[in-house]
Amino acid sequence: MNTFQELGLNEDLLQAITDLGFTKPSEVQEKAIPILLNNETDLVALAQTGTGKTAAFGFPMLQKINIDSRTTQGLILSPTRELCLQITNEMKLYGKYCKGLNVVAVYGGSSITDQARDVKKGAQIIVATPGRIKDMISRRLVDISKIEYAVLDEADEMLNMGFYEDITDILSNTPEDKCTWLFSATMPKEVSVIAKKFMENPQEITVGNKNESTSQVSHEYYLVNARDRYNALKRLADANPDIFSVVFCRTKRDTQKVAEQLIEDGYNAGALHGDLSQNQRDLVMNAFRKNQIQMLVATDVAARGIDVDDITHVINYQLPDEIETYTHRSGRTGRAGKTGVSMVIVSKSEVRKIKSIERIINKAFEKKDIPDGMEICEVQLMSLANKIHNTEINHEIDKYLTNIKEMFEDTTKDELIKKFFSVEFTRFYNYYQKSKNLNIAEGSFDRDNDREDGREGRRDFGGKSDSTRYFINVGSKDGFDWMKLKDFLKEQLELGRDDVFKVETKESFSFFNTENELKEKVLAFFTDFKHEGRFVNVEVSENRGGGGGGRRDRKRSGGNRDERKTSSGNRGDRRRSEGGSKPRRSGGDSNSDRSRRSDSGSRPSVARRSRR
Ligand code: AMP
Repeated sequence: MNTFQELGLNEDLLQAITDLGFTKPSEVQEKAIPILLNNETDLVALAQTGTGKTAAFGFPMLQKINIDSRTTQGLILSPTRELCLQITNEMKLYGKYCKGLNVVAVYGGSSITDQARDVKKGAQIIVATPGRIKDMISRRLVDISKIEYAVLDEADEMLNMGFYEDITDILSNTPEDKCTWLFSATMPKEVSVIAKKFMENPQEITVGNKNESTSQVSHEYYLVNARDRYNALKRLADANPDIFSVVFCRTKRDTQKVAEQLIEDGYNAGALHGDLSQNQRDLVMNAFRKNQIQMLVATDVAARGIDVDDITHVINYQLPDEIETYTHRSGRTGRAGKTGVSMVIVSKSEVRKIKSIERIINKAFEKKDIPDGMEICEVQLMSLANKIHNTEINHEIDKYLTNIKEMFEDTTKDELIKKFFSVEFTRFYNYYQKSKNLNIAEGSFDRDNDREDGREGRRDFGGKSDSTRYFINVGSKDGFDWMKLKDFLKEQLELGRDDVFKVETKESFSFFNTENELKEKVLAFFTDFKHEGRFVNVEVSENRGGGGGGRRDRKRSGGNRDERKTSSGNRGDRRRSEGGSKPRRSGGDSNSDRSRRSDSGSRPSVARRSRR
């Protein structure tokens, strides 16, 4: 193992490294720094966040540029504002003894004139998000025509986010003979294309295996019915009282919904997604950094800039569309030498994706069971016992002690302990005592839910079923195929990915299924509902099988517009009284599934966690 001196770094940088407390170079630094210092070369480096990659390109760039000149010589492109700011801060720290160094961050959502002014003062290095710098180039607010070093950081993420055109555009404003250093956590096709297009014989380095997840992270998956996803999430949180986690959802809407539900249910949660203003996002991130939020529910895009090192768990509430994204998610934990757990909640239809992810990360998942109610009660009890054991005595209590002692004169030590712990334990016990087993067996795949390949799983409805089949009077002649109709229904009803299934479109009508519990909501919503000027009618179909198109259905397809019109009236009211997909608070609702109900609603509140 080399030291930083042996890598060839100059005194100014070595001094900063000592101040930062870095004792030895990380793997990516050991591999990249000598190459970049000693050669004018292009480079492709496969390395995750948290491996020290900023310093791997930052030190060589700082050493190679001419700080006496005010010309912009280095450009670092990063996918998000947060990462852009993080890199800028790191570069400033690394270059703190480089007198006259000016590193400027250029990103959207902040004053372009202020940024232009900072650049004009003479920025040797600009760290930028693609959208903003493209804008500034076109307005001639920056000049990158003389840069010598361009870094594409988190290239896979930039491409995922659709920045290909922008990157092409930006690089076309830079000199041909510059060096390009590309850093990426994964190596999808698109990144190889960029490498080929913009680089000449790049040297390649890999930290760990390509696309491999960090070794500090263990991977677990939990198989549940799609409808139990939220309850499973709560149990995972309750079973880990000191959890400090990022919970990933696929859409902004799900992110918001899950966060709101968690807050309503007494968890320290917050949402982070693109529909929030920058100010709101900053507030949430600050609360998260201060550990006031234990569960940060986030979209992939919004979570990209999270620079928090001590995240204990990543929870994949839903798997990402692109399984490569899983590497980024799980890389949020297990940083800076710590261990972490990446949990995936999967429904039957998604379980096959686990195998594909295992191939990508080159690591096996452990299938685990969602803890049952009593396990959670035990964990909470022992966690409390542990906290009490480690609590320092507050002697302010002493003056009340005589009175308290009197009260417990006749209570034995055992009784006292039991009473004391019952205060917390009983709340959890009451909450969880009737909770059902949320786990389902892997082999029991019955295709109730959507299939992975996007086609609807066919289902035998001959026996008892938890789902309702509906007839809807739109079909292919209205421009719907099954996918479009499914999207339309999910969108209109604000349902999740697995909530509408077995969609079958005919020419002028179609069928679809939802779980029984959504029946009221679906029917209420489609009472007096118009789409593109025509009434869309939904009725429960007695045809529960896959065939459809029978006489009865054909007759229905003609429908009776007048009848549909007269069935209006109370749609608004019915929708208002609809519980939607939120878990019902225990007691007082019409849900007959008692066991399910006992898992929903607010959990017993627990003392706020303080981690520091
Ligand atoms: P990065 O992968 O660049 O996001 O770096 C992750 C974290 O590791 C940052 O907080 C860096 O300051 C820190 N870091 C970078 N290099 C080293 C090193 N050689 N030793 C210890 N920490 C480091």
